[in-house]
Amino acid sequence: MSSLSPDAPLTELRGVGPKRAATLAEAGFHRVRDLLSHLPWRYEDRSTILPVAEAVVGEPATFQGRLKNLARVRLRRRGMSLVRGVLEDDSGSLPVLWFNRPYLVHQVDDEVEYLLHGKVRASSRKKGVDGEAVGPPELLNPSCEPASNALHSGRVMPVYAGSGTLGPALLRRLLDQVLERIEAAQLPEPLPPGLLERHGLPALGESLAALHAPDDSADVAALNAFASPAHRRLIYGELLEMQIALARLRRLQVGHRQPFTYTVDDRVRDVARRVLPFSLTAAQRRCLRQIVDDLRLPHPMLRLLQGDVGSGKTIVAALALVVALESGLQGAFMAPTELLAEQHYARLRELLGERYPLGLLTASNPDAEAVRWGLARGEVGLVVGTHALIQEGVEFARLGLAVIDEQHRFGVAQRQVLQAKGERPDLLVMTATPIPRSLALSAYGDLAVSVLDELPPGRRPVTTAVLPRQRTGAVYRRLGEELRRSGGRAYVVCPLIEESEALDASSVEEVARRVRKAVEPLPVAVLHGRLAAAERERVVADFAAGRTRVLVSTTVIEVGVDVPEATVMIIESGERFGLAQLHQLRGRVGRGTEESRCVVLHGTLSEEGRQRLEVFEATTDGFEIAEADLAIRGPGDLLGTRQSGLARLRVADLVRDREWVETAREDAREWEDRLDGWDELRARVEEIVRRRLEAAGSATATATATDS
Ligand code: ADP
Ligand code: MG
Repeated sequence: MSSLSPDAPLTELRGVGPKRAATLAEAGFHRVRDLLSHLPWRYEDRSTILPVAEAVVGEPATFQGRLKNLARVRLRRRGMSLVRGVLEDDSGSLPVLWFNRPYLVHQVDDEVEYLLHGKVRASSRKKGVDGEAVGPPELLNPSCEPASNALHSGRVMPVYAGSGTLGPALLRRLLDQVLERIEAAQLPEPLPPGLLERHGLPALGESLAALHAPDDSADVAALNAFASPAHRRLIYGELLEMQIALARLRRLQVGHRQPFTYTVDDRVRDVARRVLPFSLTAAQRRCLRQIVDDLRLPHPMLRLLQGDVGSGKTIVAALALVVALESGLQGAFMAPTELLAEQHYARLRELLGERYPLGLLTASNPDAEAVRWGLARGEVGLVVGTHALIQEGVEFARLGLAVIDEQHRFGVAQRQVLQAKGERPDLLVMTATPIPRSLALSAYGDLAVSVLDELPPGRRPVTTAVLPRQRTGAVYRRLGEELRRSGGRAYVVCPLIEESEALDASSVEEVARRVRKAVEPLPVAVLHGRLAAAERERVVADFAAGRTRVLVSTTVIEVGVDVPEATVMIIESGERFGLAQLHQLRGRVGRGTEESRCVVLHGTLSEEGRQRLEVFEATTDGFEIAEADLAIRGPGDLLGTRQSGLARLRVADLVRDREWVETAREDAREWEDRLDGWDELRARVEEIVRRRLEAAGSATATATATDS
């Protein structure tokens, strides 16, 4: 058989005509190398052949023997067929059954030895006390092939994920052919050998061969954990490419001089001191210093300020804004909801309003036009707002520092639109989502990170109770007693039920009726997306001032709302919330010096829902919660990768392979400028950079189009 080049089109493979090639191309397989980079997603150990007498219920196993008495059984359910038979070897016999493979009756030759692989179960012909099957072992739906010509059994078998109309078996057949015709170990190595040696990793070709065609002595557990040396080689390679690309992107962004400078002298320090209503925690001081150091550099800052709910990010941002304002530059502070923007505006006006002209820019602020004017003419120094800030028609005279609060609610594109409102302004993005470092390095690899890892003094941990819905009555009775006795305040949060604000509003009203009865005669207010801005501001102000004592709300209060006197958070239908969201909600209480508590009421729980609430009850540590969240549902949303244009990873997993992320990042710094002569590596890096810039570019266009 002729040998094959990795760049050969797939039509050079036996069994691939134009039609199949088209199907393969649709799934992203164009050349032989595309097939080689499609790795098995798991491995089955079929190298051990078990005597049928040793079949164990519940375990998959491989058997070899002759098939006797194959017959079709009539089934009452239409469209279903069943074939039964018996597998015999020297040790005895084992019943076998197949659903929906009627053709086996004609194909199987009872003089031929077959290899069968499948799961052994207990026959349901005999039932235990609870109705569970306890009959003798039988083999269910095994794969079946002649032992003399076995492809699928009798070895450590790679299992490929199918793709579209491409079945796993087809992919395996094609890969078997490729490996027969290519000397995989001879494939060119794209990585500098020094790097592979440093980490004791095998070469690419050798790794691909080991992954597609593991030999019988392969460590199946390591293969399935993606922890074999061959896996590590591919994981490292992928992460290295990504980290070099991120280093380049960072340089593209920050490698230009800014047309302005900041003044940081005793006068500015003095102003900052006078603005400050309390003394900063050590963590706040450290983060502020990192930020101010960045501001003084002649190129744009790109920094993420990460701190758990309540850690005091706002004041750090406010002080950085003071530095900008004192330097004669404008500041912008963007928040994801109107409610939060309004609250930040009120807070910043209290702190800074006497010294600087401030403006609020939201869709529902009637003065928006005047604020836009003031910004363009440089008369408004600091603007606080929502997405309204990044719309067309908003112009700054000299934007110096842009702050984005709750940045995970925005996309990379929106961040870039805000940046484009000035001439290379500095950017500070803030989030409470405690991103594990491996994720921060990857998703935000082009951002520097400051961490607020300390809460302001005097905080007490919030106690949490998770209770079934049946306890609702008791929970609200206790709330009534407690509020009448103390002067406390409480939130009650209802989930978004429908994609309709009208329905949400009515569900909030319904809960509010129940709450009113329970806490009579204390005043209760409701808050939801249907309220007009002025009404909403009044409701929040009344609650903050203690004129109302319970705020029944949809999740609009989820982020940022800050009323230190509130000490009780009751969450209805807690099973409908994600862990991060629950954590944010709980973060609305425990902000003062009083003891606070959180109660989650829930209906029927899925397995995942039960896990979530267990974690939530067990810890208030945002970092632990984020890690558990990742473990339960994977990194998807936490990253917002869809929006970040981050290259999708094929082999590496940012959580499982976190140590490799660190390693790759260090090596990337060293190799970033040394890619001459490593053309394939450089081409791959450039491809990632290009795709990321493209994704950001097209998203910018969409953001501008949809926000107006
Ligand atoms: P977050 O990080 O969640 O945005 P905030 O900035 O809203 O937190 O701060 C939470 C609360 O803690 C606010 O009421 C704020 O005034 C208060 N706070 C922040 N820093 C300190 C500090 N160093 N000492 C006392 N209170 C502080
Ligand atoms: Mg905040």
